[in-house]
Amino acid sequence: MAPTHVAVGASLALPLLAVAPELAVVGALAGIAGGVFPDLDLFTGKHRKTLHFPVLYWIVAVPASGIAAFFPSPATVAVAVFFLSAAVHSVLDWFGAGDELKPWEGTSREGVYVHVIGRWLEPKRWIRYDGSPEDLALSAGVAAPGLLLYGTPIRELLVGALFVGVVYAVIRRRVPRYVGPYLE
Ligand SMILES: [Zn+2]
Repeated sequence: MAPTHVAVGASLALPLLAVAPELAVVGALAGIAGGVFPDLDLFTGKHRKTLHFPVLYWIVAVPASGIAAFFPSPATVAVAVFFLSAAVHSVLDWFGAGDELKPWEGTSREGVYVHVIGRWLEPKRWIRYDGSPEDLALSAGVAAPGLLLYGTPIRELLVGALFVGVVYAVIRRRVPRYVGPYLE
């Protein structure tokens, strides 16, 4: 779910606190943006496909990370962490459920689309569905180091994301009842 991707995105910038603390906030913000970005295809195009690139994001993220390491600046770090976070997001979705209204039923075979091979990866369902108790636990666990180590505004953003995650986890199984009629 989005709060998990936000927490993961922010955590990708944690090493900056040790090596370049002045770039940690911009890195964390970029990580959060990159963690949210792929799921914008919920609103346009095909979810888990149009903006999900489990391979191609890495082709940008790896050289961008190298450039950021040699020429650290807010811009190079932001680009690197953004693409790293989007890449990690696209891979992580594979370990959840598929793209379907009631993912706990486990009927979808569309985990995430791999453009370079032109087919879908089957969902692994290590996390049974977005907003499941284990998804919330993962969110909290990944967010914890950032909550302790980051200052304002990242800490507040993580608290907000976790709050959204708790609410979403509570209502998750009721969501299809409300959005279902609009999708048919
Ligand atoms: Zn996604």
